[in-house]
Amino acid sequence: MGATQAHAAFDQHAHDHRDCIDAALAAAEDVCARHGGQLTKTRRRVLELIWAHRKPVGAYQLLDDLSRERGRVAPPTIYRAIDFLLDRGLIHRIESLNAFVGCHHPRERHSGCFLICRACGATAEMVDTRLDRALTAAAADVAFRVERQTVEMRGLCPVCTPDGATGDPVAH
Ligand SMILES: [Zn+2]
Ligand SMILES: [Zn+2]
Ligand SMILES: [Zn+2]
Repeated sequence: MGATQAHAAFDQHAHDHRDCIDAALAAAEDVCARHGGQLTKTRRRVLELIWAHRKPVGAYQLLDDLSRERGRVAPPTIYRAIDFLLDRGLIHRIESLNAFVGCHHPRERHSGCFLICRACGATAEMVDTRLDRALTAAAADVAFRVERQTVEMRGLCPVCTPDGATGDPVAH
């Protein structure tokens, strides 16, 4: 089940991504209405920019994007917006890239599990509750209480993996 979802998430080249962005913004309004906090214009725009990039995006890139639209924007403006979006589960931080991606299912509490393509940079979030439970249980076995859990796996996405081959990635 999880593998199927991950594959679907990687299949990002053949759809109207505007639909994804609109769905993400609608979900964000919904989450804020239910759990408090205002989706201010800046927070909303930062979320939209993160989604528009399609790939994990760093804070400096977002600062650049927003400054181009509004004139000089102070870094704390971006960091506060990012903190809010992280706190509401609307985006995830990819630790190994120090970058952010939009979450496809912000209404459900879950930990992040990411597949990151080393060739093209595409990233897919995999939701697999069995994995969550297994990791939490393994930590509990050694009396460790997990507060935050992010799994990041590097490899090749379906586009960069030649059919039936295990060798070199295809350029695209
Ligand atoms: Zn999309
Ligand atoms: Zn997520
Ligand atoms: Zn790839």
